[in-house]
Amino acid sequence: ASGTPPNPQIFFCIACILKDFNLTLRSIMDEKNIPIRTYQVCNVMEPNQNNWLRTHWIRRGPAQRIYIEIKFTLRDCNSLPGVIGTCKETFNLYYLESDSDNERYAHESRFEKIDTVAADESFTQVDIGDRIMKLNTEVRDVGVLSRAGFYLAFQDVGACIALVSIHVFYKKCPLAVRNLAQFPDTVTGADTSSLVEVRGSCVNHSEEQEVPKMYCGADGEWLVPIGNCLCNPGYEERNEQCQVCKVGYYRSLSSDGGCRKCPLHSYSTKEGATSCDCDKGYYRSETDPATMPCPPSAPHNLISNVNETSVLLEWSPPITSGGRQDLTYNVVCKQCVRDMQRCTPCGDDVRYSPQRLSLRSTRVSVYQLQAHTNYTFQIWAVNGVSKHSPSLEQATSITLTTNQAAPSTVMMVQSKDITRHTLSLFWDEPEKPNGVILEYEVKYYEKDQNERSYRIVKTTSRSADIKDLTPLTSYVFHVRARTAAGYGEFSAPFEFSTNTGGCRVHMCLFERSKYSQTKQAEEKNLQPGVRIYVDPYTYEDPNQAIREFAKEINTSCIKIEKVIGIGEFGEVCSGRLKLPGKREICVAIKTLKAGFTEQQRLDFLSEASVIGQFDHPNIIHLEGVVTKCKPVMIITEYMENGSLDMFLRKNDGRFTVIQLVGILRGIASGMKYLSDMGYVHRDLAARNILVNSNLVCKVSDFGMSRVLEDEPEGAYTTRGGKIPIRWTAPEAITYRKFTLASDVWSYGIAMWEVMSYGERPYWDMSNQDVIKAIEEGYRLPPPMECPLALHQLMLECWMRERADRPKFSQIVNMLDKLIRNPATLKRTAGDASRPHPSTLHHAPSEGSAPSLGSVDEWLKTIGLEQYRENFSTAGFCSLESVLPMSHEDLGKMAISCSAHQRKILSSVQELLSGMHHRQDTKVPV
Ligand code: AMP
Repeated sequence: ASGTPPNPQIFFCIACILKDFNLTLRSIMDEKNIPIRTYQVCNVMEPNQNNWLRTHWIRRGPAQRIYIEIKFTLRDCNSLPGVIGTCKETFNLYYLESDSDNERYAHESRFEKIDTVAADESFTQVDIGDRIMKLNTEVRDVGVLSRAGFYLAFQDVGACIALVSIHVFYKKCPLAVRNLAQFPDTVTGADTSSLVEVRGSCVNHSEEQEVPKMYCGADGEWLVPIGNCLCNPGYEERNEQCQVCKVGYYRSLSSDGGCRKCPLHSYSTKEGATSCDCDKGYYRSETDPATMPCPPSAPHNLISNVNETSVLLEWSPPITSGGRQDLTYNVVCKQCVRDMQRCTPCGDDVRYSPQRLSLRSTRVSVYQLQAHTNYTFQIWAVNGVSKHSPSLEQATSITLTTNQAAPSTVMMVQSKDITRHTLSLFWDEPEKPNGVILEYEVKYYEKDQNERSYRIVKTTSRSADIKDLTPLTSYVFHVRARTAAGYGEFSAPFEFSTNTGGCRVHMCLFERSKYSQTKQAEEKNLQPGVRIYVDPYTYEDPNQAIREFAKEINTSCIKIEKVIGIGEFGEVCSGRLKLPGKREICVAIKTLKAGFTEQQRLDFLSEASVIGQFDHPNIIHLEGVVTKCKPVMIITEYMENGSLDMFLRKNDGRFTVIQLVGILRGIASGMKYLSDMGYVHRDLAARNILVNSNLVCKVSDFGMSRVLEDEPEGAYTTRGGKIPIRWTAPEAITYRKFTLASDVWSYGIAMWEVMSYGERPYWDMSNQDVIKAIEEGYRLPPPMECPLALHQLMLECWMRERADRPKFSQIVNMLDKLIRNPATLKRTAGDASRPHPSTLHHAPSEGSAPSLGSVDEWLKTIGLEQYRENFSTAGFCSLESVLPMSHEDLGKMAISCSAHQRKILSSVQELLSGMHHRQDTKVPV
C-alpha cells in the first residue's frame, strides 16, 4: 500500500501487503497519472460471486482497537449495460484474530465481519474515458483485540472494484508537556469512549507539587490535566521547561515566581543560585528569607558624657537597618592601659542602666568605672544576623578617660586584741580605691554619747590601734579612705566593746555537703539583658527556671558569718562570697530551714528565679543559689542597713529632705525598671526595701507565695488570700486587680512611710476602718515637715481611678525635678494654704465649723488613747485647750515617743487650720 496517512501523527501503518485470493493485481494510473498497483475484480456479469482477498498476519502491537482505512474505486452498476441483478456496489470487510501466522489457510467462514463498505463515489465509462479516478476512502475500526495479531479479509460479492490502499493503524495520544509534567506517547483505550489515565513525570529541574495526571481520549487527544510540577529552586519556568536563573539572580523556593535579582548588598556568582550571598560585611540569618536584603551598618554619632566614674553614652541608630525590625544594641566595655592598645574587658562590678545587652534605646549609663582610667566602649548594632560573623562594621567605638573620684566606702571593719583600754581595728581596702590611697581616717565615739563628741585616728595602713578607751564600753567606729581626689564616704557604723570580744557572731548551722566536692553541673550565667519578666511558675518544671535565671554557687566559695534576720523560710545571715577570679564580697545568705517539702523548696527558690531576671542598681542583686547541697541558699548582695522601715525608725529625724527624696527616687527608679519589665510587685512597702551603706535603696522581697500567704501585714480579704491592706490599692483589695497602677498606690504609702520615718500607715486604725475611710475618699495627711509637693505626689498615687495615677517613669521625673529645684521642697504642710486632714475620720460637712469634740474622742480617733490620763492630769480638758500645744508641753506630759509627738502635733495643726478655713477637710482626690 502507499499514500500518506491523513494525519501522520496518529495514523500508523502496521502492514499493507495484500494477499491474492481470487482477484487480479493490476497497474492503473492514479489521479496524478502515476501508475499504481491495485487489486481489481469486476465479475459483474456473473451471479453468485464470492471472491476473497486476505492480508498476511498483522502483529497487533500495543493496540487494542485498530482502524482500517481503505482507499478504493468502484464502478457505477448503472453505467454497465446488462448487469442488473448481478452487479453490486459494495464489498465486505472481515477479520480473524490469531496469536501467530498459523491461520493462513483458515476457512473464510471463520472470519468475523466488520462491516459492509459502500462507495461514496462511483465512476462511469465516461469517467474512464476522461481518466477521472473517483477514489473512495472509508475507515472502519474494530476492537477489543486480544490476540497477538490478526488477518483482514475483503469479500467481493459481484462489484467492479479496485483496492488502491489499505492502512491499518491504531491511535495514540502523542508525547506532551503540561504544567511542567511530561506525558509519554499513550495508546488509546479499547473502547471508543474509554479514557486512559496517565501519570506525568516532572520535566528536568522540576519537582512534583501535586501528582500530575492526564487522560488520553479514544481519538488521541489529551484531556483534563490535573496536578503540576514546579521548577526547582535556582530554575524558572520558560517555554514549558525549567530554565536556570542567570548570574546575579536567584530563586529560593519552588513556589516562588520567576528568578529575581539579588537583594540589596548581596550577589550570586553562578547560574542557578537559590539564594544570594551577602556582600562582605553584611549578614543574613538562617531564619531570614532569601528575599531579605543584607543588613546592617554600625550605629553612628556615638557621644559620651563623663561624670567622675560614670559615663552616659548616646548614639544614633545605623543608617541602614537592612529592613530588619529586630535591631538592638550591646555595649562592650574595655579598660585600657596607657597606649590604648592593651585593653581588657571591664569587670563585673561595672553597672549599666538600663542594661548592657539587648538595649532598645540609643543610650546607656555606665557606673562604677575606675577613676583616672582609659576606657573604650563599643556599641554594637545587633539583630538576628549579627551572630553569623560580627564585624567591626556593625560597631562604633569611643575612647574616654574617667575623672578623678573619691574612694568608695570601706565595707567591713573588724576588731582584734581587745583589752580593757585598747583594741585593734583592721579593714579591707575599698572596693574602688579610685587612685592611690593616701590615708585612712577612723572616727569613733562611745555608743551612748552624742556622735558629735567623736575622736579621729589617722593611719596609712589598713589597721589602727585605738587606745585610751573606757573599759566595758561600747564604741561605734567608722572608717573612710582618702586619695588625691579627697575623702570617700565613712563606712557604716561598726560596734565593738572594750574587754567584751566585740560583736557577737551567731554562726548559721552550716554543714558542708558531701556533694560539695563533686563536679558542679554546667553553670549558666545570668543574662543581664532580659527584657520581659518571665513568671517562674509558668515553667512546667520550676527547677528549670531556677537553672535558667540563677547561677549555682559552690558552697566552698561561701563563708557564713552571722545571723542578721529571720526570713519566712529560715535564717538570713551575712557572710562573704569569693568566686574564683573575683574579689571577695559581702553577701546576704537566705537559708531554707531543714525539713522543707519540695513545694517549699521551689517557693523559696522562686524568689531567686525572679531576682535573677533583674539587673538594676535599685533592685536587690542576686549572686546565685546553692541548690545542690544543704542547706539550700539564696545569695544576694549585702545591704548593710537592713530593711528601710527599721532603718528609718532607728534614724528618726536625722536626714535632710533631699536625702529622703533621694531614697524615694531610688525606690521609684527600681519600680520603673520592674514596671518596664512587666513585673507587678504586689507588696511594695518600706519593710521590703533594703538599704546599703551608701543609703542606696533597693527593692527586694520577690517571694511568690509570700505576697498573699505569708506577708506579716497580710490580712484575709472577703475573697480569700492575704493582702497587706494598708499598702494595697482598693481595686486590688476588692477584686484582686494587682497591676502596675496598684504598685503605684503602694509606692505612695511607702513614700508616706519614708517621710514619716517609718510611721505605721493609718496608725492603729483597724484594717476595716482603713478600707472604709479610703472608700469615703479620705487619704493619709502629710507627715510632719513633709514638703507639700511630695504629699501632692502621694495623693496622685492614691487616685481612686487607677488610670489617673502617675506611671513610675513620671514619678521618677517628678522627683528628679524636685531634686533639681530644692526650693520647691521648702513649702511644707505647716504653711499650706489648703487644709489637710490629720485624721481620717474627720469629715465635717462643707461650710460648717468643725465640731472639735472631747480630748478623749480626739485621742481615740488618732489611735493614742493611752495618753488620756496624761492629758487630763496636765489639765487639758477641752480640745480647744490643746490647740496651742508644743513639743515642750508633750515632753512635760511624759509623752516622749517622737513618732507619737509628731502625730499629736500634726493633728493639732490640722485642727487649727480646719478652724481657720471652716472647710471640708477631705483631701480632694
Ligand atoms: P526577708 O526574707 O526578705 O524577709 O529577710 C528577712 C530580713 O533579713 C530582712 O528584714 C532584712 O533585715 C534581712 N535581709 C534580707 N536580705 C538582706 C540583704 N540582702 N542584706 C541585708 N539584710 C537582709
